[in-house]
Amino acid sequence: MSLSTTIALDTRAKELVAAGRDVVNMTVGEPDFNAPEAVQSAAVSAVRSGKVRYTPAEGTPSLRKTIAEHVTATRGVAYAANEITVCHSAKHALSGACLALIEPGDEVLMLLPAWVSYVEIVRFAGGVPVSIPSRGDLGPDLDAIARAITPRTKGILINSPCNPSGYVMTEAEVRALGALAQRHDLWIISDEIYRRLIYEGERDFSPVQISPELRERTVIIDGASKALAMTGYRIGYVAAPRAIAAAVGKLHSQLTGAPNYISQTAFEAGLVQEPPEVTKMCAEFDRRRQRIVSGLRALGLETPMPRGAFYAFPSVAPYLDERGSTGLCEDLLEQENLAVVPGSAFGVDQHIRFSYATSLEVIEKALLRLESFLQRHPARTAAMRR
Ligand code: PMP
Ligand code: GLU
Repeated sequence: MSLSTTIALDTRAKELVAAGRDVVNMTVGEPDFNAPEAVQSAAVSAVRSGKVRYTPAEGTPSLRKTIAEHVTATRGVAYAANEITVCHSAKHALSGACLALIEPGDEVLMLLPAWVSYVEIVRFAGGVPVSIPSRGDLGPDLDAIARAITPRTKGILINSPCNPSGYVMTEAEVRALGALAQRHDLWIISDEIYRRLIYEGERDFSPVQISPELRERTVIIDGASKALAMTGYRIGYVAAPRAIAAAVGKLHSQLTGAPNYISQTAFEAGLVQEPPEVTKMCAEFDRRRQRIVSGLRALGLETPMPRGAFYAFPSVAPYLDERGSTGLCEDLLEQENLAVVPGSAFGVDQHIRFSYATSLEVIEKALLRLESFLQRHPARTAAMRR
């Protein structure tokens, strides 16, 4: 298994900062906001309550019920508490779902660009990741997906809004994927961790909304890290048909045990009623999104407008040499003290990823450093070098 590139690069950037280097770190995707006030006070009260003990491996009955109500309200499809398993994070929910569903040799389709951990988690579960290139606008290529289905295909892993592209699937695209899943008897693992961070009045659409049949073949992955800025609390969940939710709970009962009680309590406080901080945070991400995308475009980089999540994913194809996006990111770090993630980590080497979950001030600095880099490495020269 390879190390998570996003985490490895963030660790490296932080080490350099600790050693005194003025590194602008736009690697890891985590909100720079504190968790909402209601979340913080619930965490503190949990610590003081004297109830910080094991809970059932699937999570406290109260949190499972609250999550079920939240999923029901946000997706408009009824979920019961026994269809929810609380996990230590969305990553843990994803690995639990993959371990529960995948048999050795099962193929799992994933759409490029795909978040760093998908390939490794599917492989770890014994599956065979099958990556499918996107359309030019980074949306799903439905024909290519249909062509990739074989008798060994077990499911398809989707992520809308997408990390790293910010692409939000249209309802028609989700319906088309749902139809394929139905026709070929596939599972859909739907990573919806960014569903609340969506811009321009865009609407998220989950496969569970298509029909009761699709709901029965879909596993929703979600958590507290992004919309509630609770990355370090480590808490997430699967919402799935009862047998799958139970299988994930069984795995966790043996492998990891009950999720952290403090984080369960804090998460519940953030779910019973959406904290006002969420809307404010989303509006701030939107401002940063506009700034970074216009800045990148002004530098001549083709940059799709992200409609969700908090990443900008410009194409840097004209600037790449034989080392690809990894080499370019190494140069940006060494020469300009700018840390970003190579597209190769997401299976798309022509791009690099900026997390704009950072202040506008950091974004301005990053753009200046990138400009200085691009001025010293004109695209034409780089193309000739290739
Ligand atoms: N899925 C995607 C697409 C992500 O970007 C992340 C961010 N780490 C996760 C899942 C996992 O989130 P966490 O483990 O922090 O809950
Ligand atoms: N999802 C974030 C990212 O892509 C956090 C890092 C990680 O968990 O890999 O940067």
